[in-house]
Amino acid sequence: MDFVTLGEALIDMFPAETGRRFNEVTAFIPKPGGAPANVAVAGARLGARTGFIGKVGQDFFGETLADVLKRERVDTRGLRFDDAARTTLALIAQPSAQRNEYIFYRNPGADQRLRPDELDRELLTTTRALHVGSLSLSAEPSRSATFQAVRLARDAGALISFDVNFRPALWRSPDDARAQCAALLPHADLLKVNESELELLTGTEDAAQGSAQLLARGPQVVVVTLGAQGSYFRTARADGFVPAFPVAALDSTGCGDAFVGALLTQLTRGAKSELDARLARALQFANAAGAITSTRRGAIPALPTRQEVQTFLAAHGATN
Ligand code: ADP
Repeated sequence: MDFVTLGEALIDMFPAETGRRFNEVTAFIPKPGGAPANVAVAGARLGARTGFIGKVGQDFFGETLADVLKRERVDTRGLRFDDAARTTLALIAQPSAQRNEYIFYRNPGADQRLRPDELDRELLTTTRALHVGSLSLSAEPSRSATFQAVRLARDAGALISFDVNFRPALWRSPDDARAQCAALLPHADLLKVNESELELLTGTEDAAQGSAQLLARGPQVVVVTLGAQGSYFRTARADGFVPAFPVAALDSTGCGDAFVGALLTQLTRGAKSELDARLARALQFANAAGAITSTRRGAIPALPTRQEVQTFLAAHGATN
């Protein structure tokens, strides 16, 4: 595998209307989602060999998610079914194009119940990279499963990627989230945060300052996504801003996942030790994947193919 993602596959319940808060939405439309599942699909569409590790309910939604992943050519050997808990639902309101609000139906959801003994060791010890988020860190036993998976993959030489993907509603307090993310940080090679997650972890929204603080805590590469502005990176040797492509954005859902899937697809094409050299071009490619995703509705349906990203880059005069 080029990369395996671990965490939540869930059903996003999109609001029938945008520009409305929860109390004004009249209906919700189910779509497959969950950041790590989206990242695995993003990579598969871009030509990477990807796999997904996680747990869904033994129910209609769980079956649907398994079918979607298989149809998208994501390896599902690591997917488990729970006969006691349901597939998690994430209800979404979109008061504006750039902002989603969430209510999670997950008390507990199947994704939180992935146990360390259910991990597919073969998948974890042969993949070039493992990508995780913070939702699986918010409760046991999925927290222990996440740390165990990171240990297994890392010991076998995989690159570890971490997207904080902070959802305040899932944590007892921001301090709790900070503590769990801090415990994972020293094990991550690649860390991706957006501006509010940067603020959560460092107390500053300044990408240059905050990324320097985070780099000192373990990762080789820190990437800060800046929405319509683009992205910023920092390694021990370099840092820089990679501007976004100007597009008519419609829906920001899935942009970060498209971005991470694209970044991992490009970075796992080379050796783990060459991350630095490949980074600037990989970020331009990832910005393009994020930009295309912002012009379409939903998460998985919006993720571009490799051909679409290449055509987009050529149309914007980029030599990737
Ligand atoms: P997240 O907050 O989940 O990390 P972002 O919304 O920052 O995701 O989007 C990730 C990337 O997608 C950005 O760094 C940028 O390259 C691209 N992107 C997102 N929104 C837009 C937009 N409106 N216009 C152009 N590119 C965008």
